[in-house]
Amino acid sequence: MNKTTLTFYGGLRSIGGTIVSLQYGSDRVIFDFGLVYSPQTNILDGQIQVRESAMIRDYLTLGLIPKIDGIYHETSLPIGSSLIPANQYQGKTAVLISHLHLDHIGGMGFIDPSIPVFMSKNSHDLYQTLEMIGEGVNGDRTYESCEYDKPFFVGKIKITPLQVDHDIPGACGFHIETPDGSVVYTGDLRLHGTHPERVESFITKAKTLGFDVVIIEGTTLSSEEELPEELLVANKDIPAELITEPKVPKVMTELLHDKQGIGIFNIYHRNIDRIAGVLQAGQLLNRKVVFEIGTAQLAANLLNTTSFYIYESESLRLLRENNQLQDWQINLLDTYPSLSAQVINKSPHEYLLQNSYDHALELFDLNTEKGLYFHSDGVPLGDYDPAFHNLKRILDYLGLAKVAVGTGGHALPQHLQYIVEELDPNVLIPLHSFHPERLTPKRGIQLLPQYGKTYMLKNGALVEQDI
Ligand SMILES: [Zn+2]
Ligand SMILES: [Zn+2]
Repeated sequence: MNKTTLTFYGGLRSIGGTIVSLQYGSDRVIFDFGLVYSPQTNILDGQIQVRESAMIRDYLTLGLIPKIDGIYHETSLPIGSSLIPANQYQGKTAVLISHLHLDHIGGMGFIDPSIPVFMSKNSHDLYQTLEMIGEGVNGDRTYESCEYDKPFFVGKIKITPLQVDHDIPGACGFHIETPDGSVVYTGDLRLHGTHPERVESFITKAKTLGFDVVIIEGTTLSSEEELPEELLVANKDIPAELITEPKVPKVMTELLHDKQGIGIFNIYHRNIDRIAGVLQAGQLLNRKVVFEIGTAQLAANLLNTTSFYIYESESLRLLRENNQLQDWQINLLDTYPSLSAQVINKSPHEYLLQNSYDHALELFDLNTEKGLYFHSDGVPLGDYDPAFHNLKRILDYLGLAKVAVGTGGHALPQHLQYIVEELDPNVLIPLHSFHPERLTPKRGIQLLPQYGKTYMLKNGALVEQDI
């Protein structure tokens, strides 16, 4: 007789890298397929040359992608591997991607091309542009798009994508149903973004569909210290002092409006709401917003706006001079005005200009006197990344003041607790956190799964089994 099982391969006690397989009979869906970002411990440190033709083998050896039967191409497996290659797997498999952060998609290009990988239509649109600007993931394959609220089947497994709000467009969770019961996976989500109503509607829709198990992220529960008691009590209010996504442009405006110098910002450009926020700040400040060319392409494709400029960086100048621009760059430069450092330096106070960490040396060409650098959730993100200290050294060298203006993509602890209590599942599985145990159910049981075990869904409960 067919049964429904859940097996966990990643993300149980890390931020990201969530990989879960839900199987009914021999059919299964695997949701999210990312890599854990750990600059301190990653053996592939950017200096060791990656072997393009042996990547799956090397990543499996390093434990960066999981050992799962039936998802890798037979010729990419290590010699003597006991893993079943994709072409010898009996059932149907599909991979579901909740959103396009690398901790959820980093490994999706390694999945055998015969296995469909699904993402929301909004994610799919974003991915097309990311690929265009050279930010696709490793591997060569195509991706399927799915629509919010429209169910589709993998064998007898029914999947309904449900939109959420996160700091990237296209984010969704999934309602997954088999004849034995249903599971809701939230992906990453927050209540202090531009669209909190999406999370409320996610909760309502999930409850209408019904479920036994909720798998939810718990990123903000990760601090080393104990969390204050009040943060573990369900509460959906937005704290007055919190900078929310819609507040970011206002805070930038307040900080820059009386400054005589240039405004610089460092963002993570997959957050299209933040690109829109910077444009809004530019408008409020009456400053021209100047994007790096990749970000300009994202703004052009995903925001309905023409009110930005492209920065003619040293590398862009060189590409143009040597006729090495790519087609998308040529088209963009034909359509939108571009500005050089020379022009900007004549009146730096008229500009709000993007500078990503990898282009930090561009700052040396700019007049940054009396300027202000907004660290707005671009990399390097924090103290744990050695590059964070390097950025500080560069800014100190320039005498450029840095101020952090941004907001996280993950629900606050009390918001997570609110979401959990609203959903009120029989079985709560918190993960994508260093301290998942801090998120507790109102009525049902909390399950902290272990690797190497599998859990059978039956009569609304999960029963542990050894694999
Ligand atoms: Zn994540
Ligand atoms: Zn995320």
